[in-house]
Amino acid sequence: MKPTIHPKWYPDAKFTCACGHAFTVGATKPEIHVEICSHCHPFYTGKQKLMDTARRVEQFEARVSKQAAAAGIRKGKKAKRVKAELRKASKKPKLEREEGLSKAPPASAK
Ligand SMILES: [Zn+2]
Repeated sequence: MKPTIHPKWYPDAKFTCACGHAFTVGATKPEIHVEICSHCHPFYTGKQKLMDTARRVEQFEARVSKQAAAAGIRKGKKAKRVKAELRKASKKPKLEREEGLSKAPPASAK
């Protein structure tokens, strides 16, 4: 090893994970902090875990629930159609009137 070109070596550098796992390792920095390690990585644990450092999952779930709530209040085509069919079913005299109109030929046809 040349005397001046190498960084300072810490043989007992503290390695700390966000999950709480810690161990010592040889490194050029005295302390290392990581978000995931072999004790909590899904590849090693076999469990699914969402790394949500920027709260993206939380934001997405909030947005989806907001959209669902808005869809419940909104009156779209589907809701209007259902309402109209219910109104038609309750008014039987109107159906009879419609039948009478369909039997009589329109004056403009001839
Ligand atoms: Zn970990």
